[in-house]
Amino acid sequence: MLRTSYQIFRCFNRRGLLWKQSPRYLTEDEKKDIPAVGKYRSPWKMFRKEIKDYFDENITPIEPEIPLETEALIIGGGAIGSSVAFWLKQRNPKGFRVTVIERDPGYTQASSMLAVGGIRHQFSVPENVQLSMFTSVFLRNIREYLSVLDSDPPDVQFNHQGYLFLVPEERAEYLSQSVEMQTNLGAKIRLMNRQMLAQKFPWLNLDGIALGSYGMEGEGWFDPWLLVRALKAKNISMGVQYVKGEVVDFDLKEVGLPGKKDLFLDSTVIKNPEGQLFKCRMSYVVNCAGPWAGQIARMAGIGVRKEEGLSTPLPVEPRKRFVYVVHCPDGPGLETPLTIDTTGVYFRREGLGGYYLCGASPNSEEEEPDTSNLDVDYDFYEKHVWPALAYRVPKFEVSKLKSAWAGFYDYNTFDQNLVIGPHPYHKNMVFANGLSGHGIQHAIPIGRALMELLIDGEYKTINLSRFEFPRLVDNEPIQEVAIV
Ligand SMILES: Cc1cc2nc3c(=O)[nH]c(=O)nc-3n(C[C@H](O)[C@H](O)[C@H](O)COP(=O)(O)OP(=O)(O)OC[C@H]3O[C@@H](n4cnc5c(N)ncnc54)[C@H](O)[C@@H]3O)c2cc1C
Repeated sequence: MLRTSYQIFRCFNRRGLLWKQSPRYLTEDEKKDIPAVGKYRSPWKMFRKEIKDYFDENITPIEPEIPLETEALIIGGGAIGSSVAFWLKQRNPKGFRVTVIERDPGYTQASSMLAVGGIRHQFSVPENVQLSMFTSVFLRNIREYLSVLDSDPPDVQFNHQGYLFLVPEERAEYLSQSVEMQTNLGAKIRLMNRQMLAQKFPWLNLDGIALGSYGMEGEGWFDPWLLVRALKAKNISMGVQYVKGEVVDFDLKEVGLPGKKDLFLDSTVIKNPEGQLFKCRMSYVVNCAGPWAGQIARMAGIGVRKEEGLSTPLPVEPRKRFVYVVHCPDGPGLETPLTIDTTGVYFRREGLGGYYLCGASPNSEEEEPDTSNLDVDYDFYEKHVWPALAYRVPKFEVSKLKSAWAGFYDYNTFDQNLVIGPHPYHKNMVFANGLSGHGIQHAIPIGRALMELLIDGEYKTINLSRFEFPRLVDNEPIQEVAIV
């Protein structure tokens, strides 16, 4: 009886809230890109149907619905969005409503699912080293962070085989300096001369290599899908609401005194799977849309409107990258690190059956592949990846290409680095974007950093303030050299 009353109360309560919500239809102009705009859902009819279903004992909760309001509205439920939700919710389980809007819960195109899953402490920017180092600690203790009562403890299959960067003579000094900085921060990286390389990795052809740097602890790779799955399960258990829907617009309100009016992001316009549009008011909207983060920023007028403070765009766009799966039963063994050749071609072991993943980024802007689809360019493998692979590891000469996939990097065209924190004008739009191929390994600490910023008002653990949006306005890039 108590349960029945509670459910009926919830029906009333939910519908009562819905009653106040009048879906905001876009103007004709705005609508033209939206295929089918659904009908207005009469709250009364929905309420009657729900009551009828209930008495027919047919009730299926229609949650998660698009809420009318939320404290944190996170756009994108990939690794970064799910991490932000995790840290916010675990810090304040009761007092903070956290909603994740994800248009594609199967994650068919999300970077997080298509990543290679590498984690390394070998970056040229100190904060990037610190971010990865925290991820290693988190992954080692993942059961403490992400276990859910009555479920199997999470396991992301962390392979601790390390990274191996190989450089020619002209880059040896840069590598030595980088390694010095990394070790000063506590990373366990070892510089290796040719003799040491030959001893430890006898399968390497050392022609053209002057120096290598090898990560002895905390580096390797893990399964990105298992990480997102574990984060999502934990989040749902804590009360984070994952809603299927697509953010299509923002509602901008004018605030301030006459003559000095500012625009304020009042609510987010979300299209549900039926094509209906709803508005959700939020205290903060966190842009975790990965490769599509630039589009989300444009919806808020960032880089589009002429107002002072809005003219600088968020320079994040999709850049297609291919991952090739090759079979080489006689290839390098179990202890093989994720190896990055002087040419930028990388490979790592995949499982235990003689399979390897490999790939490379294009050498120039002109060679960037078309991003209108996720088709794989097999010529790129033949012409660029395989020759470098077979030269560096002669055993790969007899490897066989088995399959391949493509995914989008969340590429920051400005400096290939993270953009974090609030927008200087739309202070309630917060970024966690532009990781340019290292976002899986940084998702966890970025979520923690945003939690600190939103709840404590400052970064408490790793100071990421120089990665905020003003560096784009002031044209002060923080170039990450070690982009793979
Ligand atoms: C081939 C490849 C290899 C990689 N290898 C590595 C690696 O080895 N190590 C590493 O650290 N990183 C790697 N990365 C990069 C890493 O995958 C990304 O940096 C990271 O996954 C970004 O996470 P995200 O959550 O921001 O983005 P995503 O995982 O792309 O999630 C964004 C989500 O936002 C959703 N979304 C977008 N727009 C909207 C909207 N309007 N409304 C609602 N939802 C929306 C999308 O559906 C998507 O699910 C690789 C990437 C690729 C493509």
